Amino acid sequence: MFTRTYLDWNATAPLRAEARSAVSSALEVSGNPSSVHTEGRAARKLVEAARAQVANAIGAKIDSVVFTSGGTEANAQALVPSWSLAGYACGRLVVSAIEHPSVLAGGRFATPDMLQAPVTSDGVLDLGKLRGLLRTGGPALVSVMLANNETGAIQPIAETAAIVHEAGGILHVDGVQALGRIPLNVATLGADLVTLSAHKIGGPKGVGALVVCNANLQLPPALIRGGGQERSRRAGTENVAGIAGFGAAAAASAIKGPSETKHMLRLRDRLEAGLAATEGVTVFSTAAARLPNTTLFALKGIRAETAVIALDLEGIAVSSGAACSSGKVQPSHVLAAMGVNEELARGAIRVSTGYATKEGDIDRILETWRKLSGVLRKP
Ligand code: PLP
Repeated sequence: MFTRTYLDWNATAPLRAEARSAVSSALEVSGNPSSVHTEGRAARKLVEAARAQVANAIGAKIDSVVFTSGGTEANAQALVPSWSLAGYACGRLVVSAIEHPSVLAGGRFATPDMLQAPVTSDGVLDLGKLRGLLRTGGPALVSVMLANNETGAIQPIAETAAIVHEAGGILHVDGVQALGRIPLNVATLGADLVTLSAHKIGGPKGVGALVVCNANLQLPPALIRGGGQERSRRAGTENVAGIAGFGAAAAASAIKGPSETKHMLRLRDRLEAGLAATEGVTVFSTAAARLPNTTLFALKGIRAETAVIALDLEGIAVSSGAACSSGKVQPSHVLAAMGVNEELARGAIRVSTGYATKEGDIDRILETWRKLSGVLRKP
């Protein structure tokens, strides 16, 4: 029988059994969470239980969690000039050069008010350059991801928070790829705002959260206005089933996270030891702390889009750079920011695993890669 091997967990993770069961039970609850009758209260109970599960998974206060339609919307909610701390509004936005496109788009900041902070050749934020950018120009909202979706490089958030706060700014952290893969506790992270997405941890697609960790932040006007849902921070009848699935996935990944991380790390080592056997393979960000599940590698002379199709035909799903930008054949902005040569960057293939990935899946891609890499390489 022809079986598929799914190695694209950073694009989306398969639904966890706990999330599937929470979603299907919630679909049977017919009430609107804003209604006061019994049916409405049953739906409200599911939303609030999920809020507690998400908050507990990251050590946050329950009412700091605002449910959104996903990570993209949470980023858009966060990136507004009108958050203010101690009476000062942040007039400009500083983002790391390797952020997800939903952050690079800048939310509601005008283009002239946006600056990019460079990264090192390992794909880690250059803290000295960030400090320099914040030295003049007034308080800034700074957005830095906890872990990069392409390379897996983990960013120095505690140090970043110290620099941003010393300069009177506000720190937003996109934690979408980190959640469930490395410890994420808002009490120690130092961020004022954190973005999460359900579908990267085995929850359903189309649901996420913005976590407002700093109670002293004065809230800007909501991005989506209408009814008073989510304490008037995000209007619209809640996606009850999606939220219930998010809560269940967050609870499951909080319990299983440490052992899943060890498992993914073993698989990553196995993969990278196998890749080292192909002459000329570059694995990116190896000198940085990385997510346990992510390997971005390239071989000069190979086009990633051709390799992804060839692997797909062999039954293996991987990605070329970020899935959100697949389809557009452009070298990755992350590798460009790291100063990687464009020709090599065009061959970058991302393998990302999860708790259900098996050693046999890694052996399969390595075997297939050995067969294909010579054929795909341009003379
Ligand atoms: N932030 C990062 C780092 C991501 O990897 C993604 C999705 O790939 C997002 C944000 C967007 O999340 P969502 O797909 O829930 O909109």
